[in-house]
Amino acid sequence: MIRLLQKFEQKLLRHGLCEDGTILLGLLDDKFYWNKIDTNTSLLEKVFEELNIASILFAKPAEPYFTILNSLADEATNGFFVPQDSETRTFFHDIPVAETLDLKNIVGALKRRRSIFIKNNGIVTYGTISPEQAFVVYSSVCFSSYVKFFSDILSNPTNWQKKEFAINEATRYLNFLTTCTRNVKLQKGPLHARSDILSAIVDAGKATVQCRLVDSYFGNISYFDGTSIYISQTASSLDELTGCIDECPIDGSSCTGITASSEFTAHREIFLHTQRRAVLHGHPKFSVIMSMQCPLRPCELEGDCHRRCPHKRFIENVPIVPGEIGTGKYGLCQTLPPVLKNSHGAIVYGHGVFTTGENDFADAFKQLADIEIMCVQRYIETIKANDSQKS
Ligand SMILES: [Zn+2]
Ligand SMILES: [Zn+2]
Repeated sequence: MIRLLQKFEQKLLRHGLCEDGTILLGLLDDKFYWNKIDTNTSLLEKVFEELNIASILFAKPAEPYFTILNSLADEATNGFFVPQDSETRTFFHDIPVAETLDLKNIVGALKRRRSIFIKNNGIVTYGTISPEQAFVVYSSVCFSSYVKFFSDILSNPTNWQKKEFAINEATRYLNFLTTCTRNVKLQKGPLHARSDILSAIVDAGKATVQCRLVDSYFGNISYFDGTSIYISQTASSLDELTGCIDECPIDGSSCTGITASSEFTAHREIFLHTQRRAVLHGHPKFSVIMSMQCPLRPCELEGDCHRRCPHKRFIENVPIVPGEIGTGKYGLCQTLPPVLKNSHGAIVYGHGVFTTGENDFADAFKQLADIEIMCVQRYIETIKANDSQKS
């Protein structure tokens, strides 16, 4: 039990989501198990009594998330704020906030939603089966808050202090990203042996998470060897893909289906349309932020643009497409393949980036990194340009 708690404590630290000593993680089995002795354990044990949960996480987000969450909480009306990216739409409609850490606030919010942010304290979230669920929600709250905070600054006139914070953070992130992605070395293709393909997928997944181009539980990755598609399983952790890769014939005949990624159809259609071999899908923050900045607003489909906006848009030469997960009329399997014929990467509105590699992930990864680096640079330029116009 303690080892399980330590695993997720280490993951929160490794992903830059928390600082050492600020994580309180507990689970209920034959008794309560906690990762450390803390004054708040008795309060949180009462939460277990009120809700049907198996684990609870209360942690202070690391910077810049802590400042961002406090800022969003200050502006929250009716006790919650509403992010707009797709990760959030999948997980929660809004993020509740409260002034104080008390039982009533926590239980009230967690009966309705997956998490709550307590001002100047931290995020509380839970898992009904494993602490993994708490980790996923925690990391989603951080991601969605980040995207909302930076998007709000672009779309609304705001104070100097916030803009300065945004420019500094974006610059820090840009430096991190440039260094991290430059050091990534991935196998060159074309790959033929099954074992080479599997290890190339595992390595590409790790590099994508390590450079923070995706949270570990989102995104997916696949390779086509001419006969079969090797694809990460749904809800698998992109930095722990060993043993979590499905092999599906291109015709879909004997694919495990249930475990293969929810975006399998999109991957398959991309391979069929483009003759390329590698597909990589991540959720890089600034690509998501910039994709939601539509100059064509107001749009006749306002509010539904992420699913079916009819306008053709680009950031530099990278296309932005609408589309939803799955095989429906507005599915990514319909919107992505046509644009990827002429481009090695595309941004899905408010969601993430899909890139392709002619023969390998070295190529697909470089495309993903280049798109995100371009979007951060664009973000910084846009904010600076807004300022000079006003002054
Ligand atoms: Zn995605
Ligand atoms: Zn639109």
